[in-house]
Amino acid sequence: VEFVKLAATYSTVNLGQGFPDFPPPDFLKEEFTRAFSGEKHMLHQYTRAFGHPPLVKILAQLFGKLLGRDLDPMTNVMVTVGAYQALFCCFQAFVDEGDEVIIIEPFFDCYEPMVKMAGGTPVFIPLRPKAPKDGKLMSSADWKLDPAELASKFSERTKAIVLNSPNNPLGKVFSREELELIADLCVKHDALCISDEVYEWLVYDGKEHIRIASLRGMWDRTVSIGSAGKTFSVTGWKVGWTVGPNRLLQHIRTVHQNSVYHCATAAQEVVAQGFQREFERYGKPDSYFVQLPKEMQQKRDQLVQSLVAVGMKPIVPEGTYFLVADISEFKSDVPDVPNSDEPYDSRFAKWMVKNKGLAAIPLSAFYCGPHKNNYNSFIRFCFAKEEATLKAADDILQKWK
Ligand code: PMP
Repeated sequence: VEFVKLAATYSTVNLGQGFPDFPPPDFLKEEFTRAFSGEKHMLHQYTRAFGHPPLVKILAQLFGKLLGRDLDPMTNVMVTVGAYQALFCCFQAFVDEGDEVIIIEPFFDCYEPMVKMAGGTPVFIPLRPKAPKDGKLMSSADWKLDPAELASKFSERTKAIVLNSPNNPLGKVFSREELELIADLCVKHDALCISDEVYEWLVYDGKEHIRIASLRGMWDRTVSIGSAGKTFSVTGWKVGWTVGPNRLLQHIRTVHQNSVYHCATAAQEVVAQGFQREFERYGKPDSYFVQLPKEMQQKRDQLVQSLVAVGMKPIVPEGTYFLVADISEFKSDVPDVPNSDEPYDSRFAKWMVKNKGLAAIPLSAFYCGPHKNNYNSFIRFCFAKEEATLKAADDILQKWK
């Protein structure tokens, strides 16, 4: 919240908050116009509380295919106000006083307060970086869980683990081996997996996004969460969903029914049309799910080049909108203040937006309080931006050094 406000006040180029500044695909804009101007005036009224029927039907079809099982649209899928509400419903539904929830650092910042609001205790485990030897750029794949350390975090109090692959902020795409490690521990300790997969279509360099719910023993204990905002570059529409077994979704429906109850009908209708189109074109070159990551990979590479040219070392992400860069070489611009309560990267990001007009988010924002100083010389950039925005960022960087 603090950095979004600073970006609004000072930035000329905002690579902070994660949203595209390019338009959504034409087919979706056309569906949007049709939904609002067409004959279907009931689209302006309430629809089914747990998800507009056309949307839950096509989500059940698509995710059924991806997970290799038959899904019931009415009981295995629920629509939410963005993935954010899906997360909130999960924590409220499953976490009780005294329960522990394992969160992998760095993490999307709402997990920690949401666990606490439900009365639970977050238990943190960091991804640990290992620098590549041969002078190559670091990749998000170089940030790994220590298997013994992860195992040590599970106990009889563990209710769930939150998995976010592809991960915000690092862009890490968890490998099958890593997911199997998590899955085995969930099965062993009878824990749930809240799997935040909002960047599921944004995976680069031919990497594969593996759904943990598809691994052995995991369907019954996993809620998979998605976002139309990220899927179709429409973050303002706030349409998200949960997919999982009815034994879990029934509790999520209870929370939803007694808090939000209902999501915007027209937005759900348009997203349903978008998915219908993608379902028919699945894996084909003209599919948005094929085209978007291609375009995004180019944007990623462009920002990587801009950063490398000035000595801000990027960690090349395997997925998502985001890229984290090492700012150690820039310490002479913003000297360290020993014993400051504020992590270095936070002061650096504030200085950068005020003095250079370039907004980014400090990596420490994605760590819990006591760990904020462990990785405090990195900042996160969002590269889901128009060519002109990336060029403007490049101009700022090249003039700087
Ligand atoms: N999870 C992650 C990892 C995210 O990055 C975001 C959005 N920044 C969300 C969930 C929330 O998604 P939505 O906008 O659909 O609520």
